[in-house]
Amino acid sequence: MSKDMDWSNLGFGYIRTDQRYVSNYKDGSWDEGTLTSDDCVTISECACVLQYAQSIFEGLKAYQTEDGRIVTFRPDLNAERMIDSAKRLEMPPFPKERFLDAVDQVVSANREWVPPFGSGATLYIRPYMFGSNAVIGVKPAEEYQFRVFVTPVGPYFKGGAKPISVKISDFDRAAPHGTGHVKAGLNYAMSLHALVTAHNEGFAENIYLDPGTRTKIEETGGANIIFIDGDGNVVIPKSDSILPSITRRSLMVVAESVLGLKVTQREVLLSEVKFGAFKECGLCGTAAVISPVGKITDHGEEFVFAAGMEEMGPVTKKLYDTLTGIQMGRIEAPEGWIREIK
Ligand SMILES: *Cc1c(COP(=O)(O)O)cnc(C)c1O
Repeated sequence: MSKDMDWSNLGFGYIRTDQRYVSNYKDGSWDEGTLTSDDCVTISECACVLQYAQSIFEGLKAYQTEDGRIVTFRPDLNAERMIDSAKRLEMPPFPKERFLDAVDQVVSANREWVPPFGSGATLYIRPYMFGSNAVIGVKPAEEYQFRVFVTPVGPYFKGGAKPISVKISDFDRAAPHGTGHVKAGLNYAMSLHALVTAHNEGFAENIYLDPGTRTKIEETGGANIIFIDGDGNVVIPKSDSILPSITRRSLMVVAESVLGLKVTQREVLLSEVKFGAFKECGLCGTAAVISPVGKITDHGEEFVFAAGMEEMGPVTKKLYDTLTGIQMGRIEAPEGWIREIK
C-alpha cells in the first residue's frame, strides 16, 4: 500500500521518508552499513566536505510497474559511475554489489513511499558520499560516509511536455581535463550563479560550450543534450567533459536497436545548430527522461527548432515513450536493464 498522498500534484522537492542507509569508512575499510530512521548527519565543523567540497552523488529512480512490481532502472551503471567519481576525488569507492544492495534495502524499507503506477510520480533515490573527518591542510579525508535516501517526486511535466527556452551561457561548466565527467557536488556549486542568472533572464536552463574554443555544444547544468537531424536520426555531442548520462546512453541503445534510427556521437558546433542542421533538441537525465528544447538564444540571437515551442518533436516523443515504456514495464527491457526490488 502506498502512503495517502496527492501523488499527481507532488513537486520536485525533498520529503523525509522513513529509512535511509548509512555506511562509514574508517581505518581503511567500510563498515557493514545499516538502515536508520535518523535523517540528520553529524560531522566535524572542519569536515573535508564542508571546507573543500569533497562530495559525490548519484541519482536514480524506483518505479511501480503496471503489474505492481517495484523496480529500479540500470542501477549498476550508477554504482559504476559513482566508483569513477570516487576515484577522481581521491575517495574510497563504495563496492558495486554493496551499492546495489544499499539501494534495494532503502527502497524496500520505504516501499509505501513508492508512488502508485499511473500517478506520474516516482521515487527518487539519492546515493552520496562525503569526506567526514576534520581536514584543514588541503588533502583527502581519511574518513567517509556513504548514504542513500529516497524521496518521492512528482511528475516532471505537469500538463504535457512543453518545450523550454534555453540560453548559451557565458560561464563555463567544465574545464578540459577537469571534473565535468564525474558527478561531484562541486560541478553544481559553481553552476548556481549561471543558473540563477539564466532564470532571471527568463530561460529555463543554460547550455554550456566547450571552454577550450567556445564553439562546441557540451551539455546543460544537469542534463545531456540530444539532437535529431533532418533525416530523423540522432546526433549526440561528444566531449571528455560531458557527464555520461545513463538516460542518454540508454536512449542511444533504444534509438538504434528498438527504433532503428542511426545514432552518431560527434562534436557538435553551435554554428551547425544556428544553420538549422537539427530539427529537434532534448535534454536528457533521470529527472525528466527527455525535456524538449524549443529555442536556443545566444546573446539575443534566437534559434527556434523546427519542432517548435508547442510540443515535443515526433522523434523525441518516440524516444521518450519507448524509454518510459521500458522503465514502467509496458515494453520489454533489454537484458539487465530492470532490477526488481523484493
Ligand atoms: C546527473 C547528470 C546528468 C544526467 O545523468 P542521468 O544518469 O541520465 O541522470 C547529466 N548531466 C549532468 C551534469 C549530471 O550531473
